[in-house]
Order: sequence, then C-alpha cells, then structure tokens
Amino acid sequence: PDSITVGELANRMSEKAADLVKSLFKMGMMVTVNQAIDQDTAELLVTEFGHNIKRVSESDIDIDTAADVDADATLTARPPVVTIMGHVDHGKTSLLDAIRGENVVSGEAGGITQHIGAYQVKLPSGDRVTFLDTPGHEAFSEMRARGANVTDIVVLVVAADDGLRPQTVEAINHTKAAGVPMIVAINKIDKPEARAQRVREELLQHEIVVEELGGDVQDVEVSALQKTNLDGLLEAIALQAEILELRANPDRAAEGTVIEAKLDKGRGPLATVLVERGTLRVGDIFVVGAASGRVRAMIDDHGRQVKEAGPAMPVEVLGLGAVPSAGDKLTVVENEARAREVAEYRQTVLDRKRTTAAPMSLEHMFANKA
Ligand code: GDP
Ligand code: MG
Repeated sequence: PDSITVGELANRMSEKAADLVKSLFKMGMMVTVNQAIDQDTAELLVTEFGHNIKRVSESDIDIDTAADVDADATLTARPPVVTIMGHVDHGKTSLLDAIRGENVVSGEAGGITQHIGAYQVKLPSGDRVTFLDTPGHEAFSEMRARGANVTDIVVLVVAADDGLRPQTVEAINHTKAAGVPMIVAINKIDKPEARAQRVREELLQHEIVVEELGGDVQDVEVSALQKTNLDGLLEAIALQAEILELRANPDRAAEGTVIEAKLDKGRGPLATVLVERGTLRVGDIFVVGAASGRVRAMIDDHGRQVKEAGPAMPVEVLGLGAVPSAGDKLTVVENEARAREVAEYRQTVLDRKRTTAAPMSLEHMFANKA
C-alpha cells in the first residue's frame, strides 16, 4: 500500500503516535492518528525519528511489584483494562452499552450478555479489550484506595453539548493521580449544539492537550446514541495499549482482583474476578481477602461456563468461602492447608488493623473495666 495511518506507522516505529503528529505538525501537516499519510511523508518521518527510535527496555516494563516477579521471557501480550469516567449524564453507560452491543453479540451463540461487572470485546484485529462495567470515579478511587490499580487506560467521556463539568474535573484528577493514560471521548456529537472544539479548549485549562491540538492525549468524537465512530474509539484504545506494551505471564498460579461481589441465594458467594496474571482454572484452590475457596465454576460475560481464564479476563467465580470486597486480591495456592494458613494470617492482620485503627470509645473503656 502507498499510504499508512499515523497510528500504524507509530506502531511499527515503536514511537508515540502523538510524537509523529507533532512532527507532522511542524512540517505543516495537520493530521490525526487515524488519518493516512503518503509514502514520501512516512519515509521522511522515519528518517527524522531514525536516530532515536526508542526500544522499550526491560526496566520500562510495568510488572507486578510482588516479590515473585515474572521473568521477562514468560510475559506475553495481554488485553488492556479500561475504565470509563466522566460527568453524570455525559453518556458513560450509553457508551459502554453501545460498545458492548456492537462487538459482543455478533457471532456469539445465543448472544445473551450478563452483568458481571466487566466485559471483554474483540476487535476486528483479533485483539481484545476489557472494560470495567462500573463507570464512575467512586469505584475507581475506591479500588485504588485499597491498593488495587487494575485500570490501564481511562476513557474520559465529555458531552460535546455540555463541556467540562465538576465530575469531569474530578475524573481528570483521579486519572492523573493514578498515573493512568487517558483517552478523551467527545460524546453526543450528533446534537446540533455539540461543540467539540470547545471541549478540547476547556481541557487545556487542566493541562490536557489533545492530539487535535498538537498534544499527546488521543481525542475521539463519538455518538453513543447513534453508535458513531465507536470503531475510532476502540482503535484509539488499541493504539494506547500498544504503546503501553501490556504483558503478563499466563503460565503460573493465578492472581486477580475482585471487581464485584455478592451473596446469591442459590449459588452462594459470587465474585467477579479480573485475572491479572497466570491462568485461573476450575478446581484451583485460592485465598481471597481473608477467606479461602476452591473454584467450583467460572462464568464469563456471556453467561457461559468456562474452564479457565487468563490475564485481563473477567470471570464470575463460584466456590468462595465468604463474600469478599471489591479490590480484594485473589491468589491461587498449592493446597488447602496453605490456603487456610494464608487466610488465617490475613485475618490476623485485618483484626490487628481494626483494633489499632479504631480508637476505643469511652463506652468501650468503661465496658472493659466493668
Ligand atoms: P451517564 O450518567 O454518564 O452514564 O450517562 P447515560 O449513558 O445515562 O446518558 C445520559 C443521557 O444522555 C441519556 O438520556 C442518553 O440517552 C443520552 N445520551 C448518551 N449518549 C448520547 C449521544 O451520543 N447523543 C445523544 N443525543 N444523547 C446521548
Ligand atoms: Mg450511567
């Protein structure tokens, strides 16, 4: 082919798309990531970047800080985990639904989707993207406060007819604090009063310079209602994921984080677990929070029973000893004895925290003395 999109070229060069856009801008060309450039321009860019192509070194790879770090050679590409944030009524739920409707149902037997707190979509390229189905900054900051930083990419939804609002700003601040890259989805562009450019300008006040304005934050115009340019948004996510080089070791005992949990009358304690590394299998013995369990069954976001779940895959897990909390870590262990040991240890730590954290009330002191 004699043309290539800026995004694809950036990928092949292992460069940030935004840097290419900047360079093109300096050459007097206003293009976005998804736009194609001709071969001559592409070659010019390659020579310009030729001297300093940055190969991601081992130390750049974001690996779990737990003591047992996976060796570089064991790591393979994994899907990104995406959280959608933004002001109320700007279209977070609509966007999640639209993305899910577009990409999940097609080709699935039955096509019945189930709410498990997270879902995966498959892109035409075959790549997968995991969406946390709990929009809102509360869930995000609550998980983070508990030490569970599961989100790789934040999609900030801003309604083009409304612009930046207080919760948009909060979401920006949470995202910055977490150090998570952001993609801006300028939504509701179908509305006559939509002013996408105003949104981009308002973002400047919060040091967010979108690509359209020569910065490195991808911005995508969408309409969740009319399902316009959802592909563009998914492409932007895929591109950001490429840049992050997300990898995990699928061949080890699984570790994951609880996204949602509840007590089901018929099935007992249920938890949606996002596997972070390793592969979770039916029959695995695990500790989650301060309780132990054994995977009795796993159900995916289509309501299908699955036998195993690899990195970045969300599954509903049956077989828990108790209802865990969102943000709890699930760790697979060798045997039941070990599970009890770890669970007991965690319970002791929790109890100790509880007694030291909560100062004794006067009533307590008197009660103790009596
Ligand atoms: P959330 O509070 O951010 O989850 O927002 P919702 O998804 O519930 O959407 C709020 C309202 O905006 C609903 O009435 C949606 O139908 C409407 N809405 C969402 N996306 C669009 C869009 O792209 N265009 C238009 N015109 N309306 C939208
Ligand atoms: Mg909503």
